[in-house]
Amino acid sequence: MLDIQKIRKDFPILNREVNGKPLIYFDNAATSQTPQQVIDCIVDYYSRYNANIHRGVHTLSQEATDAYEEARIKIQKHFNASKPHEIILTSGTTESINLIANGFASFVKKGDEIIVSALEHHSNIVPWQMLCEHTGAILKVIPMFQNGQLDMDAYVALLNEKTKLVFCNHVSNALGIINPIKFIIDKAHEVAAAVLIDGAQAAPHIKADVQALDVDFYVASAHKICGPTGVGLLYGKEAWLNKLPPYKGGGEMIDQVTFEKTTYAGLPHKFEAGTPNICGVIAFGAALDYMNAIGFEAIEAYEHELLVYATEKLLAVGDVTIYGTGDKTAVISFNIENIHPYDIGTIIDKLGIAVRTGHHCAQPIMDFYKIPGTVRASFSFYNTKEEIDTFIEAIKKAKMMLS
Ligand code: PMP
Repeated sequence: MLDIQKIRKDFPILNREVNGKPLIYFDNAATSQTPQQVIDCIVDYYSRYNANIHRGVHTLSQEATDAYEEARIKIQKHFNASKPHEIILTSGTTESINLIANGFASFVKKGDEIIVSALEHHSNIVPWQMLCEHTGAILKVIPMFQNGQLDMDAYVALLNEKTKLVFCNHVSNALGIINPIKFIIDKAHEVAAAVLIDGAQAAPHIKADVQALDVDFYVASAHKICGPTGVGLLYGKEAWLNKLPPYKGGGEMIDQVTFEKTTYAGLPHKFEAGTPNICGVIAFGAALDYMNAIGFEAIEAYEHELLVYATEKLLAVGDVTIYGTGDKTAVISFNIENIHPYDIGTIIDKLGIAVRTGHHCAQPIMDFYKIPGTVRASFSFYNTKEEIDTFIEAIKKAKMMLS
């Protein structure tokens, strides 16, 4: 059992008011809030040992380097990667995906096939379209059913010896659906295709084990897991990372540089050109410590309770359509008949409630449902049933005003 009131005290932002009302933050799928422990870690870094890493002999640089590499090990352990250098530190999910898309340009040729799911975030569609334009490869899409689940029979039918890569999110950001990624990975491997799983939305709720999944690449962003913005990870199997060319050229990623030829550093530095977000990486480690101390099983169970409670209450409001059913994280993507989602979002913001409205960077899903967007309420372990009650009253009020 989580002590929610104690947990809430860790999040200073939850004390603030918005438009004269206590903040109710239900936009956790966009970014999560930051506990004091992570804020303290950031302050400590800039107050005590701010220095560039991997290059100074002086004490501050060594302290910063140690803390940075310790954070890499925390991330490695959290995702159960077998080696620290299989964790590449990036600016976030988007950069991690682009790194892979860029690298695969060297392997993919005209006529090869790349499979993405119908449930992808734009950041998991556009880089592959760019790769296909560049190489002449063909993009295929795993279709979805009306309930938001992916059609696994259609997926298996798409796979063949031309399939080089399969990309799918672990959890859909627009609907909260948890995808059957183990099945997707195993089937792709039967045709020797590599698989990248976008864990951006799963990471705050589900502890992924990259070895048990046998996934080739797994990516996520710290800012959705109680960490800072501008930091994320790319997990890659060592053999793949060794094969892929560097993504960015610059300092830190080289072995020897002459004007005739440059040789590259080994993993992970080959992919980490330039001064990274040192403080952000260290704070990412602190965020994982914080969440692991609470425990992912307890987080998942409590958030599920919030999801069930809110779903029932919301449906009772009437004229509500919820998009996506089945195995889900604590996300409710919905519309109220004849009301634009943006109008609902604007009215409830006046009541201090933060939700996301729009296409959630997943326009193909909105096109599938033939809607301009949805209202998305996404819950975290620091939210409460009382907040959901207030949210439901606000939705009723918005519905009355807008009908
Ligand atoms: N994929 C998914 C499923 C996401 O939800 C997001 C963030 N909304 C991203 C990718 C992109 O993450 P970032 O903006 O942190 O790079």
